[in-house]
Amino acid sequence: MRSTFLLLSLLIGAQTFHILQKLNSKNHQDITRMAILHATESVCKSVDKDFKTPEPLDSKTLAEACNRKDFASNFETCIRMISFYNVMRDIANIPGQHPEEHFDNEKFQEGKESITSGIKAITGYIEEEKFYDARKVLGKIFHTLQDFYSHSNWIELNYTKPCTALIDPEENIPNPAKKEMETCDNSSDSNSENIKESIIKERFLTSGYARRSRPKGKCSHGGFPDYPEGINKDYSDSSHGSLHNQAADIAIDACVQLLEKILRSLKKDPALNFLRLMGLYSEKPKGEWKPLISFLDFKLRYPDASEDEYVEV
Ligand SMILES: [Zn+2]
Repeated sequence: MRSTFLLLSLLIGAQTFHILQKLNSKNHQDITRMAILHATESVCKSVDKDFKTPEPLDSKTLAEACNRKDFASNFETCIRMISFYNVMRDIANIPGQHPEEHFDNEKFQEGKESITSGIKAITGYIEEEKFYDARKVLGKIFHTLQDFYSHSNWIELNYTKPCTALIDPEENIPNPAKKEMETCDNSSDSNSENIKESIIKERFLTSGYARRSRPKGKCSHGGFPDYPEGINKDYSDSSHGSLHNQAADIAIDACVQLLEKILRSLKKDPALNFLRLMGLYSEKPKGEWKPLISFLDFKLRYPDASEDEYVEV
């Protein structure tokens, strides 16, 4: 068990909103669950004029309110599978290997491309009734989209709505900082890490770098192993953690928008196919959800095995 935790801390590194439970913080799984519940609630409302939002809103109460009580456990499995593939973004690769998957190192265009191509792939999979593949891609692009709000300075720039350019191939990302532009004040050897006033004033978009590969004048991500300072809002005790809840709430809204976009792009039976994607349907979802901690044990035993081999049945 000790080695599992050691592996966990090494693998998650510094690149995540957070995947463990922490007090007063929302992790990737919480954000994913809230977004799915809200988007599904709207679809249920659209097919049933008598629909009433249940209190509390969870997979069981929503399945019942949506007249799909018998599929509540399928719905829960799908939420967990999507969350599993989300979290895998932080675990499956060596930390720092794919900064674009986490919107690190100002990889805005590359991160956006992985999201928009993912949306296209998901739409195709749904049309071919390959729901398992669609859920897998959805988990992955949710992760990237969520990290944008934690790793960039979108919140520090006082935006209160999601960046719609990240899900729309036609829209340009607003004002990304240029390569040579210094974005953080880290000239002194103190631990302070502040975004430059001129960057905030002129509303340039930037994101954090791993300290070891950070170009001069760029911001640091912060957190392990960049401890202590940086601009991430991964959880409430991060250095920019006072903005954590704002970042998490906008990330939820952004994921709802992404789901609405998928819904709108479905040509055949959009509402029904959306509910099928979420498991509110008679067929048992493919893939067996297993807890994350046992994945790490599995990985220690079979280092070359893929995440698919772990969950596929
Ligand atoms: Zn991440």
